[in-house]
Amino acid sequence: MNTPTDNRPAFEALGGRTPDGLFSGLPTPCYIIDEGQLVRNCEILAEVALSTGCKILLAQKAFSNYDFYPLLSGYLAGTEASGLFEARLGAEKMPQKEVHVFCAAYRDDEFDELLTHADHIVFNSVNQLKKLGGRAKRAGRSVGLRINPECSTQEGHEIYDPCAAGSRLGVTREQWNEQMTDELTDLLDGLHFHTLCEQNSDDLETTLKAVEEKFGNILPKMKWLNMGGGHHITRPDYDIPLLKKCIRGSMEKWGVGIYLEPGEAVALNAGFLAARVLDIVRNGDRQIAILDASAACHMPDVIEMPYTPPLYLADENGGEYIYRLAGPTCLSGDVIGDYGFAEPLEVGNMLLFGDMAIYTTCKNNTFNGMPLPDIWKRQRDGRLKRLTGFGYDDFKMRLGGR
Ligand SMILES: *Cc1c(COP(=O)(O)O)cnc(C)c1O
Repeated sequence: MNTPTDNRPAFEALGGRTPDGLFSGLPTPCYIIDEGQLVRNCEILAEVALSTGCKILLAQKAFSNYDFYPLLSGYLAGTEASGLFEARLGAEKMPQKEVHVFCAAYRDDEFDELLTHADHIVFNSVNQLKKLGGRAKRAGRSVGLRINPECSTQEGHEIYDPCAAGSRLGVTREQWNEQMTDELTDLLDGLHFHTLCEQNSDDLETTLKAVEEKFGNILPKMKWLNMGGGHHITRPDYDIPLLKKCIRGSMEKWGVGIYLEPGEAVALNAGFLAARVLDIVRNGDRQIAILDASAACHMPDVIEMPYTPPLYLADENGGEYIYRLAGPTCLSGDVIGDYGFAEPLEVGNMLLFGDMAIYTTCKNNTFNGMPLPDIWKRQRDGRLKRLTGFGYDDFKMRLGGR
């Protein structure tokens, strides 16, 4: 998921230059991933890992632009995957590093291949552990079970709350008591929970109390505890000392190694989506700028959450000229948000949305036959390099005829 973050540091790093001044040569729409900001994030994460002894993985579902994996592997312990393809990508592109996988339910016919890529296999249910745990163990893999501490620390976004009533994610203590046997417990090397989403360490502290209450008698038998993702560690107001206290406290109390697997925090504010104004229409009092980038296709969380993404050089105090920025598709709701500007927009202007590295390139689509944006890298020296681009064939090949 993706909600507005304090994007000011990433915008300030652009030095007030206009989007056209910075990126005039780029085709729009296009994503620009900022290497400097990735490094700043990674330095924060690596310091947490180094000073506590925990291991931090990249959750690839948020960010899997693997051209950056060689850079990230200098700071992180490995990757986390949601299934076979991400596990394979992690193994291929961050070799020598750990590959962890969690999936709500594994397929029988993929499991052997998965075992060739992944070091840690985390199961979501006792059924799955019973069915596949022995195979993972015999292949020499570290076996984990996801628990549900039934401790909701977020409000308002039930689709992002694995602790919501009736959740399918993780084993509750009640399910554990009903279904687990000593034999199955012996298969386990670790426990995993993932309950946070864009949250600070006070919510981790609260969650750990629930974990202790529900699973405190199991944890001393484990080698590791994976605290999932959702830790917004690289956000300016994140309380890192409290995170370290939580990590060290858990290590001491239960004698376990600690893993964190943030996605967002790795690439927070590390990307832009550049778009241009194609047309400006007025309906009543409302001015609407139609862009060549679509919320529905290129920033789907804007509609799913929903949220309004930060926009470079938009007037935070309202601005004299207010425009609704919207996409070029036929979906009425393909709206990015209402923004104020100090000057009127014109057809052809370039606009730059912030925090567009996460849950974007790995989540976009070609609805309406929209082209997929190029992906560019902004190097630390400011130079731009094209990583990949797409055309008609990329749209067509997903629909048949091969
Ligand atoms: C989504 C997810 C993550 C990463 O979450 P972020 O909010 O991007 O930090 C980590 N682990 C699991 C199991 C996830 O589902």
